[in-house]
Amino acid sequence: MKPKDITQSHYQLIVIGSGAAGMMSAIRASREGRSVLLLEKLSKIGAKLKATGGGRCNLTNTLGNEDFMARFGRDGRFMSPALEALDYKALMAFFTALGVESHAPDGYRVFPITHSSSTIINAMQQEMQNLGIHVLCSQKVDTLVHDEGKVKGVQTQSDTFYADAVIIATGGMGYPMLGAEGDGYPMATSVGHTVTDLFPAMMPLKVKERWVADCRADTLPKVSMYVNLKKYKKRSAKGDLIFTKGGIRGPVVLDFSREITPLLSKFDEVPILANFTKGMNQEQLRTHFKDALAKDPHRNTLALIQTLLPSSVAIALCDIAQIDHSIGFTKLSGKNRDHLIELLAWTPLTINGHDGFKMAMITRGGISLKEIDPYTMQSKKLKGLYFCGEVMNIDGPCGGYNLQWSFASGYLAGNLG
Ligand SMILES: Cc1cc2nc3c(=O)[nH]c(=O)nc-3n(C[C@H](O)[C@H](O)[C@H](O)COP(=O)(O)OP(=O)(O)OC[C@H]3O[C@@H](n4cnc5c(N)ncnc54)[C@H](O)[C@@H]3O)c2cc1C
Repeated sequence: MKPKDITQSHYQLIVIGSGAAGMMSAIRASREGRSVLLLEKLSKIGAKLKATGGGRCNLTNTLGNEDFMARFGRDGRFMSPALEALDYKALMAFFTALGVESHAPDGYRVFPITHSSSTIINAMQQEMQNLGIHVLCSQKVDTLVHDEGKVKGVQTQSDTFYADAVIIATGGMGYPMLGAEGDGYPMATSVGHTVTDLFPAMMPLKVKERWVADCRADTLPKVSMYVNLKKYKKRSAKGDLIFTKGGIRGPVVLDFSREITPLLSKFDEVPILANFTKGMNQEQLRTHFKDALAKDPHRNTLALIQTLLPSSVAIALCDIAQIDHSIGFTKLSGKNRDHLIELLAWTPLTINGHDGFKMAMITRGGISLKEIDPYTMQSKKLKGLYFCGEVMNIDGPCGGYNLQWSFASGYLAGNLG
């Protein structure tokens, strides 16, 4: 069908955006017997979905709904009706029915068995085609059409399309080259919605300390870190870390950045403390060193620390402690030993920047949840308008949380309740 014919048709639903949320909502609505038009501004559908999980698509995880919601913090319960409609088991079953098996190799994160996000996109595209959903790419929606408190359709840069209901599934603002550039926010505010402050999240962070450059590419497992500012010490994260030329990245940093970027908009720098020794506290470190020295009393300080850390990090920490690492650990003064142990238990770093939305996997903030009915995803401001996915003010950590939310909220919104 050509755009011209489509503009003359009247749909029961128009979905704006072909991400995980938008495609799921279109499929649900069509399966419920509605005529659906899906509008996508890029020339291809599912561009961000393709990039997920490094191309492997970590589509959900095996947490039960209560634990899943808890990981989203205060607003997690908003997701309850959506997760009841489509939890991780139902999502896996949805894809199985489309011919895509998925599995959780580590018992937690779920991937398609092919470990290719294209499998997911192709299956959804095929299902949309089978259902007769009209998909138009290269159609950027600019505004909503509405009258007397009810949505009537949308206007793109070239055409106007009419429908009884519209779902905004335009995503957040991260990785703008993949389509999501915050277009849904002005559409929502134009009909009375509020958009919260917006912050880039799930991204590498820059640090002030120069020594990290000498450790670049070193990966440290099970790192824990927390914000070392009086009112914010509960902001913490755990996971693997990789040093870069000017900062830190890796799973722990992706999660931690969700806590840090809002603080960086308040403070120029955010001091943090990091434990690089798999969570060992000072006492455990002392015991570890004692045992290691009992096995080999001639080890110098560097060799001793290397039992816990890569040499570049071990050298950097000895330098910070101003200790000659070629000396035996027992030959160090008590003060120096204590200092080194303190530093190994909690190493200070100073976060002083990031690369903004262009490197942000998700957006913190979005359309206020207070203005959306969690049982239907319908707008409380305009009848017939619905939301799903990242465009709303809710975001989760790394590990399939954000896609599960996008799929589940899309599934609920597509019911047009
Ligand atoms: C590199 C990367 C890897 C990620 N990996 C994972 C992962 O493995 N697991 C996980 O759970 N989460 C992951 N995420 C996060 C996850 O991808 C997103 O939270 C999720 O895809 C959001 O889905 P969405 O449908 O709400 O929005 P999007 O996927 O962003 O889709 C929005 C769509 O709307 C279109 N659009 C926007 N404005 C308009 C307009 N005006 N008119 C028409 N169309 C428009 C866009 O082009 C886009 O196609 C990752 C994110 C990135 C960037």
